[in-house]
Amino acid sequence: MKALIAVLPGDGIGPEVTREGVRALQAVAQRNGHEFTLVEAPFGGAAIDASGDPLPQATLELCLKSDAILLGAIGGPKWSAPDAKVRPEAGLLRLRKELGVYANLRPVAVHPALRSSSTIRPEILVGVDLVFVRELTGGIYFGAKTRDATTATDLCSYSVMEVERVTRVAARLAQARRRKLTSIDKSNVLETSRLWREVVTRVMQAEFPDVAVEHALVDSAAMHLIRRPADFDVIVTENMFGDILTDEASMLAGSLGVSPSASLGDGKRGLYEPIHGSAPDIAGRGIANPVGTILSAALLLRHSLGLESEACEIEAAVYRALDAGLRTADIASADVDGGRSVSTSAAGDVILAELARA
Ligand code: NAD
Repeated sequence: MKALIAVLPGDGIGPEVTREGVRALQAVAQRNGHEFTLVEAPFGGAAIDASGDPLPQATLELCLKSDAILLGAIGGPKWSAPDAKVRPEAGLLRLRKELGVYANLRPVAVHPALRSSSTIRPEILVGVDLVFVRELTGGIYFGAKTRDATTATDLCSYSVMEVERVTRVAARLAQARRRKLTSIDKSNVLETSRLWREVVTRVMQAEFPDVAVEHALVDSAAMHLIRRPADFDVIVTENMFGDILTDEASMLAGSLGVSPSASLGDGKRGLYEPIHGSAPDIAGRGIANPVGTILSAALLLRHSLGLESEACEIEAAVYRALDAGLRTADIASADVDGGRSVSTSAAGDVILAELARA
């Protein structure tokens, strides 16, 4: 098949890990006779430096005509001064809005070889295989903000339509998995959460009676996520709760560096990025873990291009490489090869070699 893929390396370790994601996509295309056109464009802090705009018009136009977008990471101290007029994050929020990607999928599966890298006891991690579906374009991050000398406010608002559409994405995912959906809210306190719970209940009863639904309050869900993570299948929640809980859940997997994400809307086009940021503390050293980006490339193949078996090829290559002892600095531990770790590009080489062996 032919596909146009926009590549936005961004800032910090973004370009380092994106390079490995691109190589994985090119390798899969070559193996399977696909023609992927990968076009790079400036985004984030790098684009502010070049043109003053974190999302230049040409980058936006490229994304809008692409089948999928692979993003590295954006941001860094250079663009984070409190009085900064324009920030990289503004470009990301705008890009998500322009693409209409309202559902952020974050799978968390703890590969057995990485159980000892997590700060959670290994026996708690057996069987963990969950997916967060975070609402991405509504809620308090997008509401009106006010500020005077003594007070600040952020408005949190959700419409029925916004809750319905993200519920359907999560429910369809649950149907293809273990048919279990956990909806997380704070309905004992927040009016938006009461609406959320009502809408989720109605949509699931009317359209997805084959999926078991449970509702959980965000505070106790945060606790159960590390107490009994293997019990969860698909979790759906609003923007801010999802932002916080997905970072918590990523620690089950041992490192921010290994987790992928997909942001989807109504069509096939999606935005794919590792869940980590630009990691300024290690940028430029060639030691970042590219696994989160490479697994994001697999999600791109699955959700935007419909190439399920190619997605599985990449995932299997990553897992075989980890099984064989592949470790970057963030997941190296003394019990594997004396804690020795490889560079970003060497990790990419090992994964490509596994891909070639399949
Ligand atoms: P971060 O995810 O960049 O880094 C947190 C810690 O994890 C750091 O110690 C870092 O070295 C480590 N880490 C992250 N990714 C890694 C990888 N692939 N391999 C090895 N180690 C890795 O979070 P932060 O430090 O809070 O934020 C840094 C910048 O990134 C900020 O400007 C922030 O706004 C931005 N950020 C961007 C995104 C995004 O692009 N979507 C997401 C989160 C944060």
